[in-house]
Amino acid sequence: ASLAELDTTVPAPNRQQDRTKPAEASPVDAFENTPDTDPSLPANRVWGRDILTRVTESRLGNDTVAASILDSVEALDAVIDGATAAGASWGSLSGAERAVILHRAGDVLEQHRADLMEVMASETGKTLDQSDPEVSEAIDFAHYYAERARELDHVDGATFTPAKLTVVTPPWNFPVAIPAGSTLAALAAGSPVIIKPARQARRSGAVMIEALWEAGVPREVLRFAQLADNSLGERLIAHPAVERVILTGGYETAELFRSFRPELPLLAETSGKNAIIVTPSADLDLAVKDVVASAFGHAGQKCSAASLVILVGSVASSRRFRHQLVDAVTSLKVGYPVDPTTQMGPIIEPAKGKLLGGLTTLGSGESWLVEPKQLDDSGKLWSPGVRAGVARGSEYHLTEYFGPILGIMTAETLEEAIAIQNEIDYGLTAGLHSLNPAELRLWLDGIQAGNLYVNRGITGAIVQRQPFGGWKKSAVGAGTKAGGPNYLIGLGSWSSAESDA
Ligand code: GLU
Repeated sequence: ASLAELDTTVPAPNRQQDRTKPAEASPVDAFENTPDTDPSLPANRVWGRDILTRVTESRLGNDTVAASILDSVEALDAVIDGATAAGASWGSLSGAERAVILHRAGDVLEQHRADLMEVMASETGKTLDQSDPEVSEAIDFAHYYAERARELDHVDGATFTPAKLTVVTPPWNFPVAIPAGSTLAALAAGSPVIIKPARQARRSGAVMIEALWEAGVPREVLRFAQLADNSLGERLIAHPAVERVILTGGYETAELFRSFRPELPLLAETSGKNAIIVTPSADLDLAVKDVVASAFGHAGQKCSAASLVILVGSVASSRRFRHQLVDAVTSLKVGYPVDPTTQMGPIIEPAKGKLLGGLTTLGSGESWLVEPKQLDDSGKLWSPGVRAGVARGSEYHLTEYFGPILGIMTAETLEEAIAIQNEIDYGLTAGLHSLNPAELRLWLDGIQAGNLYVNRGITGAIVQRQPFGGWKKSAVGAGTKAGGPNYLIGLGSWSSAESDA
């Protein structure tokens, strides 16, 4: 990419909304990013605290979850057959007709913003400042894919046939935005969907799906299914009626799915091991803030999270960056989301295996700049950790941990820093902090990652403005980007209009 190719014409969202008033209806026929809740409005702070009072007792989503368990081959096959049959009429609607329902889905999701934030806090420990933008992203997907559905009606010389059935297998870390995005894309393309929520985040997925049903997506076209055992999962993925599988999860899961069915038509966004490079020309105050937010937002449980910071030249040799980093990291307030002052919440399950090793064991030459501590008996609440002295080629350099740990590496030059990042098998997000245009050009030309961020954090992709997708082992199958103009194209097949006639 060159600087000239970067699109800077899209305006940032700037609408302010008082969450205690009814939400404005979305603009129809045009896409605008949905604004996050503005905590500077006193009414919104009251609204947020009110959500927190409900978190502990929350039962949202329970009924849908209970009704969705499939425990036999017959039950699963009936859902597959039913969705495929109902999908034929959904797919025969025009894109413009589907767009009306999708826009309504965006509006209904907005009406349930507080419910969605409540269930995410209750089920996955997400803090309000993390769950609020996640709801905005889900709403954005609805309106954005609605407009892309309309475009499918107007492709000259070609006809689009939607997949007869799409299976969506989302992760637990974005339990609303990611299942919403995958599901809404398939629905926009005209395909029926069976969604299998992540085990740790079923209720969050259920509340999101209930909103889509409420908006008018037929229940037969959008099925919510939990599978009682793994053999049913294998049967679902391998089933010939399934024409697309949209997976967001670990690279190993994509491999597993492929082992069930080698020719699987998969759209997968997988693991990441992402670095922010900081050069001597950077605004170091800004770099520290962005590194901390990217490494420890949602306790580091994002594919997009910064797991490494690579300090170049004098930033590596001076003590200033490290001092500021330690101050910032040790001042983070760690706790549960019901406490409104919490900045970093728990991890999803008690730390074990690879992550426990990452939180407790150092590699050769490494030392703790900030040692992570287990803060209670749950095994889920850890203070953030920073390890210095991570060596090139070491285990920490190359492994994804998915938790609140950051490693520091150093490089003499920017070229060396880029090489350090590119040695990693994954290529999901990458960041550069530099105020030197020549460095920016060098980095843009050399860095191997799907999503690039300059002088900002490396998480929080925004629909349309920063479509999200990986490179290398961070993507498996069709590599189109979620929230970007081409995503629906991969959810069906194309034939030339003449051969159809
Ligand atoms: N889209 C999210 C972001 O940009 C990351 C999604 C993930 O972790 O899978 O931060």
